[in-house]
Amino acid sequence: MSTTKRCYYETLEVERSADESTLKSAFRKLAMKWHPDRNPGDASSEVKFKEINEAYEVLKDGDKRAAYDRYGHAAFEQGMGGGAGFGAGFASSFSDIFEDLFGMAGQRGGRGTGRERGADLRYNMEISLEDAFKGKTAQIEIPVSVTCESCSGIGAKAGTKPKTCSTCGGAGRVRQAQGFFTLERTCPSCQGRGQIIEDPCPSCTGSGRVTRERTLSVNIPQGVEDGTRIRLAGEGEAGVRGGPPGDLYIFLSLASHAIFQRDGADLHCRVPISMVTAALGGEFEVPTIERGKTKVKVPSGTQTGRRFRITGKGMPVLRSRQVGDMYVQVAVETPQNLTKKQQELLAEFEKLSSGATQPEAAGFFTKVKDFFGSRANTP
Ligand SMILES: [Zn+2]
Ligand SMILES: [Zn+2]
Repeated sequence: MSTTKRCYYETLEVERSADESTLKSAFRKLAMKWHPDRNPGDASSEVKFKEINEAYEVLKDGDKRAAYDRYGHAAFEQGMGGGAGFGAGFASSFSDIFEDLFGMAGQRGGRGTGRERGADLRYNMEISLEDAFKGKTAQIEIPVSVTCESCSGIGAKAGTKPKTCSTCGGAGRVRQAQGFFTLERTCPSCQGRGQIIEDPCPSCTGSGRVTRERTLSVNIPQGVEDGTRIRLAGEGEAGVRGGPPGDLYIFLSLASHAIFQRDGADLHCRVPISMVTAALGGEFEVPTIERGKTKVKVPSGTQTGRRFRITGKGMPVLRSRQVGDMYVQVAVETPQNLTKKQQELLAEFEKLSSGATQPEAAGFFTKVKDFFGSRANTP
């Protein structure tokens, strides 16, 4: 993928409308400035120099320039390899970026041998809050491209051997005169591999890799959060032609829970209580995340919305011994569908309740009084 690549016009510091001679002089100026011979030991100038050359190679050619104007860098991307065919949950995006970086910096392992590190894979997994609490070992099935067994990843049919590329003599790179300079570039005949496969392996059609379902066991530690990433080193795609494999990243997301809301290590839940329990006080049971129960004591005169803290009943903190708390918020419920008898009793209660304190009501009616009082006072 070339998302990290700079626009060719920007690289050459010219307008999109620049004509041939403008391009040429811009290229000359920049190539002189960033030529590695003029900047010995400066790796970044080498990268710049390569970028400038690449940009000029494309823009000086009418057809290539037209293709670039239309499709951008995508116009020159070589057939997307193995990673593209995977199902939902997979994307081989990471090492594309790394490969771009390393490819451009010329540090790719085993230059000229075509060895490449396999792509990193992403696997999205949703887990329940209970699993995040307890931790678990999950079995996952992943389609992963692995080294082809028939040809040991070489890509040549059994009994045959790849031939040394005649264009580059096996070096994988060719030298080419360009303007004033001799440039080294990837061999176009063998794409840098140094070898040509004449009889491709039928199992992998010469790519050296095949797709297999692989079952992996993933250890999910206690206390993982939404967005936690687990890296399984070396479990990504197989490398190309004996290159090292990529990594597999498990991206965890937490399913929402019917009872608990998580806030860091703390858990919150809302519990309805009756008007009578709230007024008289009492005790009720609430479930806990470990599928147990705990008692919550409410004092008499409890107002709706009050929170009670139960220490140590929250979530474990990832890679630590700490545990969060659980907060229980009560919601006082007004009863509905009262029987005649119940209505009578409540009406009776209302008559008798002149002595009871209604803290919120008292506060409110004081404010109302002040409100009207202040209006009366304004002229
Ligand atoms: Zn094969
Ligand atoms: Zn070659």
